[in-house]
Amino acid sequence: MTERLYYDQTYLTKFSAEVTAVREKDGKTEITLNQSAFYPTSGGQPYDTGVIGGAKVEDVYVAPDGEVRHVIDGKLNAGDAVDCEIDWARRFDHMQQHAGEHMLAGAVYRLYGGNTIGLHLGADMSTIDVTMPDGSTHLTEEQIYALEMDVNEQIHQDVPIKCWFPDEEELNALPLRKAPTVKEHVRIVAIGDKEMVACGGTHPSSAGQIGMVKIVDARPAKGKMRLGFVCGMRAFKDYQMRMKVSDQSAEMFSTKVEKLPEAIARMQENISALQRELNALRREQALQQVAGLMENAKEIGGAKLVCGTLPALTPDALRELASGLIEKGGVIALLASPKDGGGYLTLFARSADVSCDVGKLLRQASTACGGKGGGKPDFAQGSAPTDEVIMKAAELLAE
Ligand SMILES: [Zn+2]
Repeated sequence: MTERLYYDQTYLTKFSAEVTAVREKDGKTEITLNQSAFYPTSGGQPYDTGVIGGAKVEDVYVAPDGEVRHVIDGKLNAGDAVDCEIDWARRFDHMQQHAGEHMLAGAVYRLYGGNTIGLHLGADMSTIDVTMPDGSTHLTEEQIYALEMDVNEQIHQDVPIKCWFPDEEELNALPLRKAPTVKEHVRIVAIGDKEMVACGGTHPSSAGQIGMVKIVDARPAKGKMRLGFVCGMRAFKDYQMRMKVSDQSAEMFSTKVEKLPEAIARMQENISALQRELNALRREQALQQVAGLMENAKEIGGAKLVCGTLPALTPDALRELASGLIEKGGVIALLASPKDGGGYLTLFARSADVSCDVGKLLRQASTACGGKGGGKPDFAQGSAPTDEVIMKAAELLAE
Protein backbone atom coordinates (compact mmCIF):
# COMPACT_ATOMS: atom_id res chain seq x y z
CA MET A 1 0.00 0.00 0.00
CA THR A 2 1.26 3.51 -0.85
CA GLU A 3 2.74 5.33 2.10
CA ARG A 4 1.05 8.74 2.16
CA LEU A 5 3.84 11.19 2.90
CA TYR A 6 1.61 14.27 3.10
CA TYR A 7 0.10 13.06 6.39
CA ASP A 8 3.23 13.92 8.36
CA GLN A 9 5.20 16.02 5.85
CA THR A 10 2.70 18.55 4.55
CA TYR A 11 5.46 20.81 3.22
CA LEU A 12 7.29 18.07 1.31
CA THR A 13 7.39 19.06 -2.36
CA LYS A 14 10.20 16.85 -3.74
CA PHE A 15 10.65 13.15 -3.04
CA SER A 16 11.93 9.94 -4.62
CA ALA A 17 9.81 6.83 -5.03
CA GLU A 18 9.57 3.50 -6.78
CA VAL A 19 6.87 2.67 -9.30
CA THR A 20 5.07 -0.37 -7.87
CA ALA A 21 2.46 -0.95 -10.60
CA VAL A 22 1.51 0.41 -14.03
CA ARG A 23 -1.79 -0.02 -15.85
CA GLU A 24 -3.53 1.46 -18.87
CA LYS A 25 -7.02 2.83 -18.42
CA ASP A 26 -9.04 4.79 -21.00
CA GLY A 27 -5.87 5.47 -23.02
CA LYS A 28 -4.08 6.89 -19.97
CA THR A 29 -1.26 5.51 -17.86
CA GLU A 30 -1.99 5.04 -14.17
CA ILE A 31 0.76 4.25 -11.72
CA THR A 32 1.12 3.50 -8.04
CA LEU A 33 4.18 4.37 -5.98
CA ASN A 34 5.64 2.83 -2.83
CA GLN A 35 5.32 6.29 -1.25
CA SER A 36 3.70 9.52 -2.43
CA ALA A 37 3.25 13.12 -1.32
CA PHE A 38 0.63 13.70 -4.03
CA TYR A 39 -2.73 14.40 -2.46
CA PRO A 40 -5.56 12.37 -4.04
CA THR A 41 -8.96 14.04 -4.48
CA SER A 42 -10.90 13.48 -1.24
CA GLY A 43 -12.89 15.30 1.41
CA GLY A 44 -13.69 18.11 -1.02
CA GLN A 45 -10.01 18.94 -1.66
CA PRO A 46 -8.84 18.42 -5.28
CA TYR A 47 -5.77 16.36 -6.25
CA ASP A 48 -2.22 17.68 -6.53
CA THR A 49 -0.52 18.14 -9.87
CA GLY A 50 3.21 18.05 -10.61
CA VAL A 51 5.74 15.71 -12.19
CA ILE A 52 6.64 12.03 -11.66
CA GLY A 53 9.80 10.81 -13.42
CA GLY A 54 9.45 13.56 -16.04
CA ALA A 55 5.77 12.75 -16.72
CA LYS A 56 3.05 15.29 -15.99
CA VAL A 57 0.53 14.29 -13.31
CA GLU A 58 -3.03 14.77 -14.59
CA ASP A 59 -5.09 13.25 -11.79
CA VAL A 60 -4.58 11.53 -8.45
CA TYR A 61 -7.33 9.49 -6.85
CA VAL A 62 -7.93 6.73 -4.32
CA ALA A 63 -8.93 3.39 -5.88
CA PRO A 64 -11.60 1.27 -4.15
CA ASP A 65 -8.80 -0.90 -2.68
CA GLY A 66 -7.31 2.16 -0.96
CA GLU A 67 -4.34 2.57 -3.32
CA VAL A 68 -3.36 6.07 -4.48
CA ARG A 69 -3.40 6.07 -8.29
CA HIS A 70 -1.52 8.72 -10.27
CA VAL A 71 -2.73 9.38 -13.83
CA ILE A 72 0.29 10.53 -15.85
CA ASP A 73 0.97 11.86 -19.32
CA GLY A 74 3.94 9.62 -20.19
CA LYS A 75 5.35 6.10 -19.93
CA LEU A 76 6.89 4.53 -16.83
CA ASN A 77 7.60 0.92 -15.89
CA ALA A 78 7.11 -1.00 -12.67
CA GLY A 79 10.37 -0.94 -10.72
CA ASP A 80 11.43 2.49 -12.06
CA ALA A 81 13.01 4.79 -9.49
CA VAL A 82 11.47 8.21 -10.05
CA ASP A 83 12.01 11.77 -8.84
CA CYS A 84 8.75 13.51 -8.04
CA GLU A 85 7.75 17.13 -7.54
CA ILE A 86 4.46 18.65 -6.50
CA ASP A 87 3.04 21.90 -7.91
CA TRP A 88 3.38 23.76 -4.62
CA ALA A 89 1.42 26.89 -5.61
CA ARG A 90 -1.66 24.78 -6.33
CA ARG A 91 -1.26 22.65 -3.20
CA PHE A 92 -0.66 25.59 -0.85
CA ASP A 93 -3.73 27.35 -2.25
CA HIS A 94 -5.75 24.20 -1.50
CA MET A 95 -4.28 24.08 2.02
CA GLN A 96 -5.34 27.69 2.62
CA GLN A 97 -8.91 27.12 1.35
CA HIS A 98 -9.21 23.81 3.21
CA ALA A 99 -7.98 25.12 6.58
CA GLY A 100 -10.12 28.23 6.14
CA GLU A 101 -13.10 25.95 5.64
CA HIS A 102 -12.36 24.18 8.95
CA MET A 103 -12.25 27.48 10.79
CA LEU A 104 -15.47 28.71 9.18
CA ALA A 105 -17.28 25.43 9.87
CA GLY A 106 -16.01 25.54 13.46
CA ALA A 107 -17.22 29.13 13.92
CA VAL A 108 -20.68 28.42 12.40
CA TYR A 109 -20.99 25.53 14.86
CA ARG A 110 -19.81 27.46 17.94
CA LEU A 111 -21.70 30.70 17.23
CA TYR A 112 -24.95 29.42 15.71
CA GLY A 113 -25.04 25.62 16.21
CA GLY A 114 -24.87 25.05 12.43
CA ASN A 115 -23.64 21.67 11.16
CA THR A 116 -21.48 21.74 8.04
CA ILE A 117 -22.29 18.90 5.64
CA GLY A 118 -20.05 19.26 2.62
CA LEU A 119 -17.06 21.20 1.35
CA HIS A 120 -16.65 22.02 -2.30
CA LEU A 121 -13.29 23.56 -3.10
CA GLY A 122 -13.96 25.35 -6.38
CA ALA A 123 -11.66 26.92 -8.94
CA ASP A 124 -12.77 30.41 -7.86
CA MET A 125 -14.65 30.26 -4.59
CA SER A 126 -15.21 27.40 -2.16
CA THR A 127 -18.53 26.55 -0.55
CA ILE A 128 -19.87 24.76 2.51
CA ASP A 129 -23.47 23.66 3.06
CA VAL A 130 -24.70 24.26 6.60
CA THR A 131 -27.76 22.85 8.37
CA MET A 132 -28.96 25.35 10.96
CA PRO A 133 -30.67 24.09 14.16
CA ASP A 134 -33.88 26.00 13.33
CA GLY A 135 -33.77 24.94 9.67
CA SER A 136 -33.16 28.50 8.49
CA THR A 137 -31.19 29.07 5.28
CA HIS A 138 -30.24 32.64 6.00
CA LEU A 139 -27.73 34.61 8.07
CA THR A 140 -27.98 38.35 8.71
CA GLU A 141 -25.17 40.68 7.65
CA GLU A 142 -24.22 41.04 11.34
CA GLN A 143 -24.05 37.25 11.79
CA ILE A 144 -21.80 36.94 8.75
CA TYR A 145 -19.53 39.72 10.03
CA ALA A 146 -19.34 37.97 13.42
CA LEU A 147 -18.28 34.72 11.70
CA GLU A 148 -15.60 36.48 9.68
CA MET A 149 -14.34 38.33 12.75
CA ASP A 150 -14.12 35.13 14.81
CA VAL A 151 -12.11 33.33 12.12
CA ASN A 152 -9.83 36.21 11.17
CA GLU A 153 -8.97 37.01 14.79
CA GLN A 154 -7.63 33.47 15.19
CA ILE A 155 -5.71 33.87 11.94
CA HIS A 156 -4.11 37.08 13.30
CA GLN A 157 -3.25 35.21 16.51
CA ASP A 158 -1.54 32.64 14.25
CA VAL A 159 -2.98 29.76 16.28
CA PRO A 160 -1.23 26.40 15.67
CA ILE A 161 -2.71 23.71 13.40
CA LYS A 162 -1.87 20.14 14.42
CA CYS A 163 -2.65 16.80 12.80
CA TRP A 164 -2.16 13.37 14.39
CA PHE A 165 -3.48 9.82 14.64
CA PRO A 166 -4.75 9.30 18.22
CA ASP A 167 -5.22 5.83 19.70
CA GLU A 168 -8.78 4.70 20.40
CA GLU A 169 -8.77 5.76 24.03
CA GLU A 170 -7.52 9.27 23.24
CA LEU A 171 -9.89 9.55 20.27
CA ASN A 172 -12.93 8.75 22.42
CA ALA A 173 -12.01 11.55 24.84
CA LEU A 174 -11.49 14.25 22.18
CA PRO A 175 -14.10 17.06 21.88
CA LEU A 176 -14.69 16.62 18.12
CA ARG A 177 -17.05 18.97 16.25
CA LYS A 178 -18.65 15.94 14.61
CA ALA A 179 -18.29 12.16 14.67
CA PRO A 180 -15.62 10.70 12.33
CA THR A 181 -16.92 9.00 9.17
CA VAL A 182 -14.16 6.36 9.29
CA LYS A 183 -13.62 3.76 12.03
CA GLU A 184 -9.89 3.04 11.71
CA HIS A 185 -6.77 5.20 11.39
CA VAL A 186 -8.75 8.28 12.31
CA ARG A 187 -6.65 11.39 11.72
CA ILE A 188 -7.46 14.48 13.74
CA VAL A 189 -6.86 18.14 12.90
CA ALA A 190 -6.94 20.74 15.68
CA ILE A 191 -6.85 24.47 14.93
CA GLY A 192 -6.02 26.46 18.07
CA ASP A 193 -8.47 25.45 20.81
CA LYS A 194 -11.65 26.17 18.84
CA GLU A 195 -11.79 23.58 16.06
CA MET A 196 -11.16 19.84 16.27
CA VAL A 197 -12.44 17.30 13.77
CA ALA A 198 -11.40 14.16 11.87
CA CYS A 199 -9.71 14.98 8.54
CA GLY A 200 -7.28 13.33 6.15
CA GLY A 201 -6.49 16.53 4.23
CA THR A 202 -3.53 18.87 4.08
CA HIS A 203 -3.35 22.00 6.25
CA PRO A 204 -0.74 24.67 6.93
CA SER A 205 1.07 24.39 10.28
CA SER A 206 -0.48 27.58 11.66
CA ALA A 207 -3.55 29.70 10.97
CA GLY A 208 -1.52 32.81 10.07
CA GLN A 209 -0.57 31.17 6.78
CA ILE A 210 -4.22 31.22 5.71
CA GLY A 211 -3.84 35.02 5.52
CA MET A 212 -7.52 35.89 5.44
CA VAL A 213 -10.94 34.27 5.19
CA LYS A 214 -13.75 36.27 3.54
CA ILE A 215 -17.33 35.14 2.99
CA VAL A 216 -18.33 36.30 -0.49
CA ASP A 217 -21.72 34.61 -0.88
CA ALA A 218 -24.53 33.28 1.33
CA ARG A 219 -27.69 31.78 -0.10
CA PRO A 220 -30.14 28.91 0.37
CA ALA A 221 -29.25 25.74 -1.58
CA LYS A 222 -31.23 22.49 -1.47
CA GLY A 223 -32.81 23.35 1.86
CA LYS A 224 -29.46 24.20 3.45
CA MET A 225 -27.49 27.40 3.82
CA ARG A 226 -24.60 27.63 1.36
CA LEU A 227 -21.68 29.87 2.31
CA GLY A 228 -19.20 30.83 -0.41
CA PHE A 229 -15.77 31.99 0.74
CA VAL A 230 -12.22 32.73 -0.37
CA CYS A 231 -8.98 32.38 1.62
CA GLY A 232 -5.33 33.36 1.34
CA MET A 233 -4.12 34.72 -2.00
CA ARG A 234 -7.62 34.25 -3.43
CA ALA A 235 -8.99 36.67 -0.81
CA PHE A 236 -6.24 39.15 -1.65
CA LYS A 237 -6.92 38.91 -5.39
CA ASP A 238 -10.64 39.22 -4.75
CA TYR A 239 -9.92 42.41 -2.77
CA GLN A 240 -7.80 43.78 -5.64
CA MET A 241 -10.56 43.03 -8.17
CA ARG A 242 -13.27 44.62 -6.01
CA MET A 243 -11.14 47.72 -5.39
CA LYS A 244 -10.48 48.15 -9.09
CA VAL A 245 -14.18 47.84 -9.93
CA SER A 246 -15.38 50.12 -7.13
CA ASP A 247 -12.67 52.76 -7.77
CA GLN A 248 -13.49 52.84 -11.49
CA SER A 249 -17.20 53.14 -10.73
CA ALA A 250 -16.65 55.90 -8.18
CA GLU A 251 -14.55 57.81 -10.71
CA MET A 252 -17.37 57.52 -13.28
CA PHE A 253 -19.73 59.10 -10.75
CA SER A 254 -17.10 61.63 -9.57
CA THR A 255 -17.64 60.49 -6.02
CA LYS A 256 -16.01 58.46 -3.24
CA VAL A 257 -16.43 54.68 -3.10
CA GLU A 258 -18.51 54.91 0.08
CA LYS A 259 -20.92 57.34 -1.66
CA LEU A 260 -21.46 55.01 -4.66
CA PRO A 261 -24.81 53.48 -3.61
CA GLU A 262 -26.18 57.00 -3.02
CA ALA A 263 -24.95 58.16 -6.45
CA ILE A 264 -26.44 55.13 -8.18
CA ALA A 265 -29.79 55.58 -6.39
CA ARG A 266 -29.82 59.22 -7.53
CA MET A 267 -29.10 58.21 -11.11
CA GLN A 268 -31.88 55.59 -11.02
CA GLU A 269 -34.32 58.25 -9.80
CA ASN A 270 -33.25 60.57 -12.62
CA ILE A 271 -33.68 57.81 -15.20
CA SER A 272 -37.17 57.00 -13.89
CA ALA A 273 -38.19 60.67 -14.06
CA LEU A 274 -36.80 61.00 -17.59
CA GLN A 275 -38.53 57.79 -18.63
CA ARG A 276 -41.86 59.06 -17.33
CA GLU A 277 -41.36 62.34 -19.20
CA LEU A 278 -40.37 60.54 -22.39
CA ASN A 279 -43.40 58.23 -22.17
CA ALA A 280 -45.71 61.22 -21.79
CA LEU A 281 -44.13 62.96 -24.82
CA ARG A 282 -44.36 59.83 -26.97
CA ARG A 283 -48.01 59.39 -25.99
CA GLU A 284 -48.71 62.99 -26.94
CA GLN A 285 -46.97 62.50 -30.28
CA ALA A 286 -48.87 59.26 -30.89
CA LEU A 287 -52.19 60.95 -30.20
CA GLN A 288 -51.44 63.61 -32.83
CA GLN A 289 -50.44 60.92 -35.32
CA VAL A 290 -53.62 58.96 -34.64
CA ALA A 291 -55.74 61.98 -35.54
CA GLY A 292 -54.00 62.01 -38.95
CA LEU A 293 -54.44 58.25 -39.35
CA MET A 294 -58.17 58.61 -38.69
CA GLU A 295 -58.49 61.23 -41.42
CA ASN A 296 -56.70 59.00 -43.92
CA ALA A 297 -58.56 55.86 -42.88
CA LYS A 298 -59.74 53.62 -45.75
CA GLU A 299 -63.24 52.28 -45.89
CA ILE A 300 -63.26 48.51 -45.77
CA GLY A 301 -66.48 46.51 -45.59
CA GLY A 302 -68.29 49.44 -44.01
CA ALA A 303 -65.62 50.02 -41.34
CA LYS A 304 -62.77 52.52 -41.13
CA LEU A 305 -59.33 50.85 -41.34
CA VAL A 306 -56.82 52.80 -39.26
CA CYS A 307 -53.32 51.41 -39.64
CA GLY A 308 -49.83 52.70 -39.02
CA THR A 309 -46.58 52.65 -37.03
CA LEU A 310 -46.58 54.88 -33.97
CA PRO A 311 -43.66 56.18 -31.84
CA ALA A 312 -42.19 53.89 -29.15
CA LEU A 313 -44.93 53.46 -26.56
CA THR A 314 -45.29 51.39 -23.42
CA PRO A 315 -47.68 48.42 -23.89
CA ASP A 316 -50.12 50.22 -21.56
CA ALA A 317 -50.06 53.45 -23.61
CA LEU A 318 -50.53 51.49 -26.85
CA ARG A 319 -53.55 49.66 -25.38
CA GLU A 320 -55.04 52.90 -24.09
CA LEU A 321 -54.62 54.55 -27.48
CA ALA A 322 -56.18 51.64 -29.36
CA SER A 323 -59.11 51.57 -26.94
CA GLY A 324 -59.68 55.28 -27.62
CA LEU A 325 -59.65 54.62 -31.38
CA ILE A 326 -62.27 51.87 -31.42
CA GLU A 327 -64.48 53.46 -28.75
CA LYS A 328 -66.65 55.50 -31.14
CA GLY A 329 -67.51 52.44 -33.27
CA GLY A 330 -66.93 51.35 -36.83
CA VAL A 331 -63.11 51.14 -36.56
CA ILE A 332 -60.49 48.46 -37.19
CA ALA A 333 -57.07 49.52 -35.83
CA LEU A 334 -53.83 47.79 -36.84
CA LEU A 335 -50.98 49.39 -34.90
CA ALA A 336 -47.26 48.83 -34.39
CA SER A 337 -44.83 50.55 -32.04
CA PRO A 338 -41.03 50.05 -31.89
CA LYS A 339 -39.62 48.32 -28.78
CA ASP A 340 -36.51 49.61 -26.97
CA GLY A 341 -34.61 46.35 -27.46
CA GLY A 342 -35.49 46.11 -31.21
CA GLY A 343 -38.54 44.76 -33.03
CA TYR A 344 -42.10 45.99 -32.73
CA LEU A 345 -45.09 45.64 -30.45
CA THR A 346 -48.22 44.89 -32.47
CA LEU A 347 -51.79 45.59 -31.45
CA PHE A 348 -54.91 44.86 -33.53
CA ALA A 349 -58.34 45.97 -32.25
CA ARG A 350 -61.82 46.55 -33.60
CA SER A 351 -65.01 48.26 -32.45
CA ALA A 352 -67.80 46.12 -31.04
CA ASP A 353 -70.00 46.82 -34.08
CA VAL A 354 -67.45 45.47 -36.60
CA SER A 355 -67.48 41.76 -37.32
CA CYS A 356 -63.90 40.72 -38.33
CA ASP A 357 -61.65 38.51 -36.09
CA VAL A 358 -58.49 40.55 -35.38
CA GLY A 359 -57.07 37.78 -33.17
CA LYS A 360 -57.00 35.41 -36.12
CA LEU A 361 -55.75 38.23 -38.38
CA LEU A 362 -52.82 38.98 -36.04
CA ARG A 363 -51.89 35.29 -35.86
CA GLN A 364 -51.93 34.92 -39.65
CA ALA A 365 -50.03 38.15 -40.34
CA SER A 366 -47.47 37.41 -37.59
CA THR A 367 -46.84 33.89 -38.88
CA ALA A 368 -46.24 35.31 -42.37
CA CYS A 369 -43.77 37.93 -41.06
CA GLY A 370 -41.82 35.91 -38.45
CA GLY A 371 -43.64 37.43 -35.48
CA LYS A 372 -45.94 36.00 -32.84
CA GLY A 373 -49.10 36.90 -31.00
CA GLY A 374 -52.82 36.43 -30.77
CA GLY A 375 -55.83 37.28 -28.69
CA LYS A 376 -59.56 37.68 -28.76
CA PRO A 377 -61.64 38.40 -31.91
CA ASP A 378 -61.83 42.10 -30.92
CA PHE A 379 -58.41 42.71 -29.29
CA ALA A 380 -55.04 41.03 -29.96
CA GLN A 381 -51.41 41.75 -29.19
CA GLY A 382 -48.05 40.42 -30.28
CA SER A 383 -44.56 41.25 -31.44
CA ALA A 384 -42.79 41.19 -34.77
CA PRO A 385 -39.26 41.79 -36.07
CA THR A 386 -40.48 44.55 -38.46
CA ASP A 387 -43.64 46.62 -38.92
CA GLU A 388 -44.33 44.94 -42.29
CA VAL A 389 -46.83 42.89 -40.33
CA ILE A 390 -49.25 45.87 -40.57
CA MET A 391 -49.12 45.89 -44.40
CA LYS A 392 -49.52 42.14 -44.45
CA ALA A 393 -52.59 42.29 -42.21
CA ALA A 394 -54.15 45.08 -44.35
CA GLU A 395 -53.64 42.88 -47.43
CA LEU A 396 -55.21 39.87 -45.73
CA LEU A 397 -58.12 42.02 -44.64
CA ALA A 398 -58.66 43.36 -48.18
CA GLU A 399 -58.89 39.75 -49.45
ZN1 LIG B 1 -8.91 19.20 6.91
